[in-house]
Amino acid sequence: MFITFEGIEGSGKSTQITLLKSALEATGKSVVTTRQPGGCPLGETLRSILLSTQTKNLDHRAELFLYLADRAQHIAEVIRPAQNAGHIVLCDRFADSTVVYQGYGRGLDVAMLHELNDIAVAGAWPQRTILLDLDPEQGLRRALARNLKTGNCATEGRFEAEDIDFHTRIRDGYLALASLHPRRYAVIDATPDVATVAKAVWAAVSSRMSE
Ligand code: C5P
Repeated sequence: MFITFEGIEGSGKSTQITLLKSALEATGKSVVTTRQPGGCPLGETLRSILLSTQTKNLDHRAELFLYLADRAQHIAEVIRPAQNAGHIVLCDRFADSTVVYQGYGRGLDVAMLHELNDIAVAGAWPQRTILLDLDPEQGLRRALARNLKTGNCATEGRFEAEDIDFHTRIRDGYLALASLHPRRYAVIDATPDVATVAKAVWAAVSSRMSE
């Protein structure tokens, strides 16, 4: 089974992935966690280019093709082999991030992004996408607090360049995708405490697994 996590900055994806992994492993399942961009050697190199504040002015189409290259390689090298070996794969961001960030966020044509994603994904679409839905102001507050705590400056430049309107478009884009794919998507309110959200994530995953 292939499960992806999506959401705006600060929505708690990585925390929830860690908790879901432990919960699944406690039931005897074997789990592989990974992320996009990143998740394989080429992907990690592309991630450092994509998230560097020095490449803040990357042309939108150049940026798009780097995300797609990351995705194609990551699927071939990590996601498909893990699935074939019988693991559950949990991925932090996937193709929907491209539709939402490059399309709703940066204005590239959404229909074109769907087509290009289909080429990059090559049939490896997830069975479940968990959307951690959160008010953008709250998300940005959480993400800034986390970055200050960890000393992670990788996305700080983006925060300056991308205002609250940008993050509102990202959230709206995700909600539009969730309506487009109601069977694949589970929209979870990420406002409550970590344990409450984890319970909702578990319900969304276990219901799909028992189908
Ligand atoms: O959540 P994560 O740390 O993986 O996010 C990396 C950053 O990459 C996000 O903050 C987002 O701004 C950006 N991103 C993007 N386009 C994508 C995927 C991620 O701009 N397709």
